[in-house]
Amino acid sequence: MTPAPGYDVVVAGGGPAGCAAALALVRAGRSVLLADAGTGPPKTGEALVSVGRLLLADLGVAGPVLGSGHLPCHGTLSAWGSAALHAVDSLHDPYGHGWHLDRPLFDRRLRAAARAAGADVAEHTGVRRPARQPDGTWRLTLGDRTGGGERTVRCRWVVDATGRRAALAVRSGARRCTGDRLTALHLLLDPAPQTPTDGRSLVESDEDGWWYSALLPSRHRLVAYFTDPDLLAAVRGPERFRDRLLATRHLSGRALPHGLGTLRPPRRAPAHSAHLDRVHGAGWTAAGDAAAAFDPLSSQGILTALYTGLSAGQAVDARLHGDRTALADYAAKVAAARGAYHHGHRAVHAQETRWADRPFWARRQRTTGPGCGACRGKQLSATPGAGGR
Ligand SMILES: Cc1cc2nc3c(=O)[nH]c(=O)nc-3n(C[C@H](O)[C@H](O)[C@H](O)COP(=O)(O)OP(=O)(O)OC[C@H]3O[C@@H](n4cnc5c(N)ncnc54)[C@H](O)[C@@H]3O)c2cc1C
Repeated sequence: MTPAPGYDVVVAGGGPAGCAAALALVRAGRSVLLADAGTGPPKTGEALVSVGRLLLADLGVAGPVLGSGHLPCHGTLSAWGSAALHAVDSLHDPYGHGWHLDRPLFDRRLRAAARAAGADVAEHTGVRRPARQPDGTWRLTLGDRTGGGERTVRCRWVVDATGRRAALAVRSGARRCTGDRLTALHLLLDPAPQTPTDGRSLVESDEDGWWYSALLPSRHRLVAYFTDPDLLAAVRGPERFRDRLLATRHLSGRALPHGLGTLRPPRRAPAHSAHLDRVHGAGWTAAGDAAAAFDPLSSQGILTALYTGLSAGQAVDARLHGDRTALADYAAKVAAARGAYHHGHRAVHAQETRWADRPFWARRQRTTGPGCGACRGKQLSATPGAGGR
């Protein structure tokens, strides 16, 4: 029987976290397979904050990944805590402007960069049935989702970058802790007859949640409403969604030029904060949303995925060189990122006092911090730091 091909590391998940981990590992001389299932909720209309360019530059891919195809984002307008609109302009940002991403293009370019750097990249391929062998290596099944069947590979280490489900880490015994139940309802409005000149994104709170809107590189407009599942009834379906949208003071003015006549049904996506009780174990390390997923209000998801992916790749390389503290140091970095996020999350929600007695806002005032029963005192004891929107 032909032995299964072997790698130092198999990275499961080809989003920003998996690509950053794969790039860090191949640049350190490791043999890497990056497998991406291409499953999960479709990602449209996400913004990358300006400092993301630095992480992409550290990975050596800023030019090709941020090339044409995305739109610059010159700032954010928000009506939060009062009905007045406040602007945060990228002119005052030391790192310049951010980007409204064509997210599928962004991810494809990251995977192409990993391939160009030397990783084997398997598209439409899910990593299944991880089995740890008596000698400490892994035997993994790769399933081709385009009908190409299954094959087996071996490796010394697995990076779980499978997104919010943390599929492999949970299978290896880690526990997923969720901080809230935030849910997004989102849809794309057709391009307006005249392209809007203001490309800034807009955030606007209401009594049961908050709205987000941005113009995409395709000139479609993304509108998304974030609330809790038990409050969704008031916005479910195109008509209720439109009525609620039209009741906004600022966002309605952005949406109307795109035509609100016949709306498609909004799509639903999980958007809650979540984390693992441990981000590494015997032969595995989790990165990106798999390790810690943040409320999209923070605009930190992709940045954190790149940061934890890069850090996880470096830590796994060090661990394979025999460094016994590298993964604990990595866990401390994830904990610090979570601590900063929770500090900012609390501070931002404390600014919205207009509907303090409504369930959505009352729940967010009660949130106590980054720890939870399952992980308090374990690997992820977080250090609060600076944060914010
Ligand atoms: C509604 C919404 C809006 C958001 N807006 C923003 C925003 O504006 N800015 C921002 O920075 N962040 C935003 N985020 C967060 C951002 O989408 C995530 O933080 C980011 O995508 C995480 O990257 P990742 O690589 O960890 O995971 P993902 O991007 O989820 O990638 C995981 C990949 O793993 C693959 N996969 C899953 N299982 C397997 C398997 N078994 N084997 C192989 N592959 C597998 C999936 O197909 C997927 O391609 C938003 C999130 C939501 C829900």
